[in-house]
Amino acid sequence: MSPLLDINLDKIRYNTAQVREKCRQQGIAVLGVTKGFSAMPQIVSAMLAGGADGLADSRMENIIELRNSGFTQPITLLRIPELSDVENVVRYADISVNSEITVMEALAETAQKTEKSHQVILMVDVGDLREGILKEHVLETAKQISRLKGVRLLGLGTNMGCFGGVLPSTDNLGLLVELGFRIENQLGFKLEVISGGGTSTLLLVENRKVPAGINQLRIGEGILLGTDTTNQRKISWLWDDAFVLSAEVIELKSKPSVPMGDIGRDAFGNVPEFVDIGIRKRAILALGKQDVYIEGIVPVDGNLKILGASSDHLIVDVTDTEQDIKVGDNISFQLTYSGLVSASHSRYVAKKFREVQ
Ligand SMILES: *Cc1c(COP(=O)(O)O)cnc(C)c1O
Repeated sequence: MSPLLDINLDKIRYNTAQVREKCRQQGIAVLGVTKGFSAMPQIVSAMLAGGADGLADSRMENIIELRNSGFTQPITLLRIPELSDVENVVRYADISVNSEITVMEALAETAQKTEKSHQVILMVDVGDLREGILKEHVLETAKQISRLKGVRLLGLGTNMGCFGGVLPSTDNLGLLVELGFRIENQLGFKLEVISGGGTSTLLLVENRKVPAGINQLRIGEGILLGTDTTNQRKISWLWDDAFVLSAEVIELKSKPSVPMGDIGRDAFGNVPEFVDIGIRKRAILALGKQDVYIEGIVPVDGNLKILGASSDHLIVDVTDTEQDIKVGDNISFQLTYSGLVSASHSRYVAKKFREVQ
């Protein structure tokens, strides 16, 4: 049966351990981010076996499942909570990232009512223009949070490389640390966490450029895929093939490279364009847009070329490969983050967990 997502748990454990060790040497804790793989418990366990200091996810559904699977580690909700969902947030997550005082008030009220304690990380926008308050509002907002009963201000956090593509730097992370100091000095309490981003901050860790004071990172992509999309690099000291997607060849034929007949629209309403490069050998795979985000998969064999896909069929030019591909063979792909996200939650993609030790 295909498609199949083959998951090497040893490599995920190894990657987590490597990231954690590099960060630990600089006093930085690592949260394992589980949203990229729908928080599948086997993978979460591999992250924890590798030494992740805690878990984090952007979706309450995943966090609730983590709790139902018996994970008792501290979990941070990575997306600003919905006002309509504060009960679940307080019940299932220990910590949430926040930027709206209205939401924090609701969290506080719920926490008090249910006699739970909830901790918040105040997100500061240092330039990427996704979530977070601007620096000039940090002190005032921290003061407001400190007056709330039921929630505690655990620290500050920032997110980068997501909307604006802004790279983490000694400067913008230094600003976060500085804002933390200002809160501590002027409001008279300690902040436990200064959370300096995700995978894109690992480059600064490698180069020992993370300003002192940053003591947490939230890592998904690097651990899972060994890549750092924001900095456009493969992370040389991590495995990049913990996940391999494969699908079976269901047709293999030589055909012209340009369709014959009047061209209308393809299955998704787009007008396709073709260049005539003669007769090509093409494989059709039992894999389509319903299974995975096609732009997020890359053939392991660099001589294969994806020509396109519809809902259920992937068309691959196999003319240039040295492999002897036959009907019934499986073709393997590596995944980008969006490829992994989509394949993980597709119910059509079977999952196989590999673990040697
Ligand atoms: C997804 C996410 C992360 C993890 O990012 P990676 O690039 O996968 O390491 C960190 N922080 C927040 C707020 C996120 O939403």
